[in-house]
Amino acid sequence: MSELITIRRELLENLVDKEECWFDHHGGCQAHGHLDLEPGELCPQAEVKALLANCGEVRPPGTQTVPLHGSGTTGGPPQG
Ligand SMILES: [Zn+2]
Repeated sequence: MSELITIRRELLENLVDKEECWFDHHGGCQAHGHLDLEPGELCPQAEVKALLANCGEVRPPGTQTVPLHGSGTTGGPPQG
């Protein structure tokens, strides 16, 4: 999960399966044939769909992303 690549959204959309995942008793995705998923692991198809959903809306120009965590001090008491 440490490798990051950049691909076109179009390519992902072509690769993703329209069919929804459905899991057997062992947690494997029967719909896409991923029967050997690790516990807690998502079907790759589900992951791609989530990615496309998160990137579904094109941000209007000028919109800035807000960092989740500021690098400065928050003024809270030191932990520990
Ligand atoms: Zn699946």
